[in-house]
Amino acid sequence: MAIDYLRLSLTDRCNLNCLYCTPREKASFLKHEDLLRHEELARAAAAFVSCGVKKIRLTGGEPLLRKNIAGLVKMLKAIPGLKELAMTTNGVLLAQSAGELRAAGLDRVNVSLNSLHPATYQRITGANALEDAWDGLMAALRAGFSEVKLNMVVMKGVNDSEVAEFARLSMDFPVSVRFIEFFQTSERSAQLRDAFLSSAETRKRIESVYGLLQEVPPGPTDGPAHVYKRPGAKGKLGFISGRSDYFCAACNRVRMDCTGRVYPCLFSPATHTLRDLLRAGVPDEALADHIKKIFLVKSDYNRDSSTAGHIEMSSLGG
Ligand code: SAM
Repeated sequence: MAIDYLRLSLTDRCNLNCLYCTPREKASFLKHEDLLRHEELARAAAAFVSCGVKKIRLTGGEPLLRKNIAGLVKMLKAIPGLKELAMTTNGVLLAQSAGELRAAGLDRVNVSLNSLHPATYQRITGANALEDAWDGLMAALRAGFSEVKLNMVVMKGVNDSEVAEFARLSMDFPVSVRFIEFFQTSERSAQLRDAFLSSAETRKRIESVYGLLQEVPPGPTDGPAHVYKRPGAKGKLGFISGRSDYFCAACNRVRMDCTGRVYPCLFSPATHTLRDLLRAGVPDEALADHIKKIFLVKSDYNRDSSTAGHIEMSSLGG
């Protein structure tokens, strides 16, 4: 599978503290100087693009905590050959930045929203910020992005009673609601080991309320999601089954964290780092050679590899 998708984490900091992510109180945040600067991120991104990457997704931590994020978006968008620049955010700070990000060239945005009820939202995220996240989602819909997706990690006993309510949003808004299977990452998420609900079960529950969903052929931005539509709906429904039906053979992505460490697979350790090369000022060709080596080792890893284990989700960004 050709590697044409880079997920780029901009920071390990977050304004939420989600149940399924790395606990914030335990995380010792990275030092400022460890993080790649905007120019370094843009140079690394350009090197990935020269090796075949066509799409970059900004993630974190919370990418909107990165200073002058619109400036970084502009720099990345100017990379020749990059076809699409997207972002995954919790949306809490999006209401004030959506227009500026769109104007800077951000093409698409995914908002993570795991409950539509304030108490459950607070239980999941540790913050009383549902209204801000909702306002962020609405601002994204108004800002003119080519697509807005809403990501819900479905957790049994936590938010699974809301799946039909989330599906309903695709009727009222031109949003792609995506139901993501929960997977274990850290010790904390191990406490949620009974929270797994398969995509098949989630879909069954939605269909028991709204009737059979129509499957639609996957579009170029659907990634590994199986996509459905309710008749007459403005938006779509996607199911991402990373656990019940995972998709290593079709994986087209690599990940770089905010310090320049590169992970060929979400479930692998970092195998390479670009920061030292970037800071040593090596020529573009040397950066590209290094990235080609990373691409070559990608097929050695999948989620069943003996190395698969703890994922530092807060710095790597899912
Ligand atoms: N702060 C941003 C946000 O909340 O969208 C970006 C980082 S967050 C780690 C990115 C995405 O990772 C979340 O939307 C969530 O879908 C996914 N994610 C994180 N931990 C997960 C888990 N244990 N199971 C399933 N998805 C997970």
